[in-house]
Amino acid sequence: MRIYNTLSRAVEEFQPMNPPTVNMYCCGPTVYDYTHIGHLWKYTWDDVVRRTLTLMGYEVKHVMNITDVGHLVSDADEGEDKLEKGARKTGKTVWEVANYYTDYFNEAIRSMGISPPHMVCKATEHISQMIALIQTLEKRGYTYATDEAIYFDTSKFEGYGKLAGQKLNEKRQAVRAEVQTDAHKKNPHDFALWFRRVGRFQDHTMHWQSPWGDGFPGWHIECSAMSMHHLGPQLDIHTGGIDHISVHHPNEIAQSEGATGKKPFVKYWVHYNFVQIEGQKMSKSLENFITLNDIVSKGFHPHALRLLFLQSHYRSELNFTWNALEASQKALEKLQDAHAALPARINQHDSFHPLAQEVKDTLAQDFNTAKALATVWSAVKDPALDVQTKRDVLDTANDVFGLALSKDDVENVPETVVSLAKKRAQAKKQGDFATADALRFQINEAGYDVKDGKVGAYTLHKK
Ligand SMILES: [Zn+2]
Repeated sequence: MRIYNTLSRAVEEFQPMNPPTVNMYCCGPTVYDYTHIGHLWKYTWDDVVRRTLTLMGYEVKHVMNITDVGHLVSDADEGEDKLEKGARKTGKTVWEVANYYTDYFNEAIRSMGISPPHMVCKATEHISQMIALIQTLEKRGYTYATDEAIYFDTSKFEGYGKLAGQKLNEKRQAVRAEVQTDAHKKNPHDFALWFRRVGRFQDHTMHWQSPWGDGFPGWHIECSAMSMHHLGPQLDIHTGGIDHISVHHPNEIAQSEGATGKKPFVKYWVHYNFVQIEGQKMSKSLENFITLNDIVSKGFHPHALRLLFLQSHYRSELNFTWNALEASQKALEKLQDAHAALPARINQHDSFHPLAQEVKDTLAQDFNTAKALATVWSAVKDPALDVQTKRDVLDTANDVFGLALSKDDVENVPETVVSLAKKRAQAKKQGDFATADALRFQINEAGYDVKDGKVGAYTLHKK
């Protein structure tokens, strides 16, 4: 298994600290808005990393945080808290905002076939761990206080910014141009560990008692506190978007290594590239943040989007286009048909056909799903290849692709019921609600409940 490590800027042989266990921490969502295609790309890759390592025989412990407090509009402590902003915009409380968007997020990733992390931890439920970590940093001399906040003094941490490949001087110059809110910050790149509930934060809704007074945690501290609390002081893999290479992740390293006495915090840093929409950057002004609702309401299956992602590489920028999604939907249907036409699997993983092994080896090369997919297509289309081998190749790939190609993936629901549910979804899409209701009645009669999700997908359950 080989993985590109941002820390060394090279593809390295993967050697976890305590095999077969792999400790993996993935930065999670800030739950103040709808999950969009850029998020879905990120969490799909987290899932592919985990599934690939599982296929290679590792036992992955996958932990992800939910940021429900403390993330200011800019990662560098400027602006207001994103949750407070979301609450003001919607007229809801911050807690309602967090719950609503957490539910939406969970359902979106489920629709995409993304395995839920083994542990999902909320920032608001780990305030005591964050306070304890800040106290350790305080004892070790890494902090200082202003009227507004407790800061991490980055000049005290040798090697700050090594992940970003920046020396402190370069970084200092890069940040200098930005407007600073707290005039008493010593260095522009110092970051808040704890905000006091004063001044611009005096009305902050979420606040807790701390040794530094009433207030709330900074954003960066939550990932250090929660990852170390749940996985220990050293991680095998830490993932995130490439936007975190310059600020958030260097800050995590400084906090964690500052607290543990420089034990390397993370062995392999894995970063995913950005998503573009029709050749343009996603931005507020272009209003091109596509959500899963948008995808499903146009008649696409969430797995068509997943397949589109898998055709790319995580370190390349993805250019999302509706045409590409349409092609991907057709490809998905072809894969499903090919899978349905094959007989039940006889082979277990112990006797791999060289082509199935090729799929596995390709995925082991820094998660090369696109190339693995090409092998799958060539196997599926090869008239000379026997059906068992085709099935083996397709199933091996799908362990990582997670496209739910097998009917077994649909909770063993009888085919007649699945087909009724498909017809009902089609009727709903066309606005024919009378037919949709009649079909629901038939599904119920057959002993099943159909549950509609927020994102347009549905699930079937035995009554
Ligand atoms: Zn994080």
